[in-house]
Amino acid sequence: MNNQTFGIIKPDAVRAGNIGNIIQRINDSGFKIRALKLVHLTLKEAEGFYAVHRERPFFAGLTEFMSSAPCVVMVLEKEGAVKAWRDLMGATDPAGAEEGTLRKEFGDSVGENATHGSDSDENAAIEIAYFFSNLEIV
Ligand code: ATP
Ligand code: MG
Repeated sequence: MNNQTFGIIKPDAVRAGNIGNIIQRINDSGFKIRALKLVHLTLKEAEGFYAVHRERPFFAGLTEFMSSAPCVVMVLEKEGAVKAWRDLMGATDPAGAEEGTLRKEFGDSVGENATHGSDSDENAAIEIAYFFSNLEIV
């Protein structure tokens, strides 16, 4: 099992001033942060990142939102990182997310849901490489 995943603190959470709160929760949950930076995606970069969703009805709104303000991109390490990070984030729609999850606490709606996490080891590797060079991962 891979021990790294890729995470984003999305523009809604950055705008709301929740970077620090979310990083605290990441630390408290036993992840090591191996890389972290603030980026403001262009629309094209957001479209490239979410290319798997390009046929979905929410694609235009999603990519517009993701390029609307800076976000924080991260490489997170823990045993079983992909599942552990998705468990900490909670369900996609904050309204249905469990108590104590990041999306329950910091998400506003299914579109503006505070965080992103890779859904497989394979996609984690692809998404990490989309944002970070090997030299940036410590
Ligand atoms: P993420 O990939 O961001 O970690 P996820 O894996 O829980 O989220 P996906 O199905 O991959 O969910 O959807 C990607 C993102 O697209 C969601 O996080 C959300 O921001 C947006 N999204 C998904 N479904 C909807 C929807 N029905 N309406 C609006 N936005 C949506
Ligand atoms: Mg997803």
